[in-house]
Amino acid sequence: MALSFSCYASLKSQPQGQTKISSNNNKKCLQRVKDLINSVGVPSITSSPHDSLQRGNWVKLICGASFEDVVDVRNLSLVYTLAGVDCIDCAADAAVVNAVNEGIEAAREIVPLRRPWVMISVNDDEDLHFRKAEFDPNDCPLDCSRPCEIVCPANAISLEGTPSALKGGVITERCYGCGRCFPVCPYDRIRAITYVRDASATAELLRREDVDAVEIHTNGRQTMLFEELWNGLGDSLGYLRLVAISLPHIGDSTISSMNMMYSLMQPNLRCFNLWQLDGRPMSGDIGRGATREAIAFAVHIAADKDRPPGFLQLAGGTNAHTVDGLKRVGLFQATTLSMNSKDEMSMVGSHSSPLAVIGGVAYGGYARKIVGKVLNSMQSKHGLALYRALSGASSGGTYRSPHFGWNCQML
Ligand code: SF4
Ligand code: SF4
Repeated sequence: MALSFSCYASLKSQPQGQTKISSNNNKKCLQRVKDLINSVGVPSITSSPHDSLQRGNWVKLICGASFEDVVDVRNLSLVYTLAGVDCIDCAADAAVVNAVNEGIEAAREIVPLRRPWVMISVNDDEDLHFRKAEFDPNDCPLDCSRPCEIVCPANAISLEGTPSALKGGVITERCYGCGRCFPVCPYDRIRAITYVRDASATAELLRREDVDAVEIHTNGRQTMLFEELWNGLGDSLGYLRLVAISLPHIGDSTISSMNMMYSLMQPNLRCFNLWQLDGRPMSGDIGRGATREAIAFAVHIAADKDRPPGFLQLAGGTNAHTVDGLKRVGLFQATTLSMNSKDEMSMVGSHSSPLAVIGGVAYGGYARKIVGKVLNSMQSKHGLALYRALSGASSGGTYRSPHFGWNCQML
């Protein structure tokens, strides 16, 4: 799987009044998707996610730790499985996990790609990724220009004016807690509701055959709550292929915090582990500058020979400029660093071929943004989601579906 990708899916609406298309048209649509994937040569048809981590090719789609719109999650999973991602990271919720797996299987019915790993994200304490915005529209002045609605990147705020009050508010399952609506409200009406995922419910999800990995979000400043969660996951950890720890850069104490967590995990760690370096959380859709913190974080950790074992992966502000940024600092698919090449070689155990210093990149807001317009357009124009259109089309029947054109470019 290439480390960076851009994809663009275009829609051509059916002629006015035509709401059904024939199975012939559906077959043509699917053939175009197959042809495109074959011509691009998505390597994940055969290579494993673990190979990608070793080679520095790993790409993870972040659906969002708090994003629970199952239709969008299914569609994102379908699109990005076709694009060849190695892992799909989603909310630790059974319905969301089902949606991810349905999207993956719908994609694999179209093209026999290998299955990406499914990861669920949990937290050990209050965390930006685990919160929802909330307000009572009855408290909003009628003449408010509703900047909250405009600024929300997830279309998670929907308001309608009536003569006496505003109706609507935050669509909870779509809110992923980015926080952009909080400062723009001129009347300070929006609150953040934070939550912590329950360890026993998480353990139950981890025992499922269709869940491969867990990601623990931690602030890295204390390890007591991390230890509590880790111990609470108990034997469910034995079912996993990968454990990821997502943490922000906390200056000089970052490495010692990572080592502390690694020593807590080690006795029960039966699979690969990964450090998700969360540069600038939930900001990849903002633009070029957002990726700088993730690159700087990666440089800092990669250069430190005292870091604990585990793959390194960027997140937080990652977007179309991240790979260029990694190339500029000499970290894109690099297998050694001049200052500690021996340590690089022993980073995740003994392997016959050199390992990439940086295993890969996770894309969240940016990945959702570049396909979101298309998905929204399909739902508003046709009322049916891509998932149903494509998965249903594969059986050859007659379906109400838009004409789907797809152009995916691997860099
Ligand atoms: S702007 Fe962010 S925090 Fe506010 S409703 Fe939208 S997704 Fe939620
Ligand atoms: S900006 Fe504040 S006051 Fe205005 S509609 Fe949004 S929440 Fe209500």
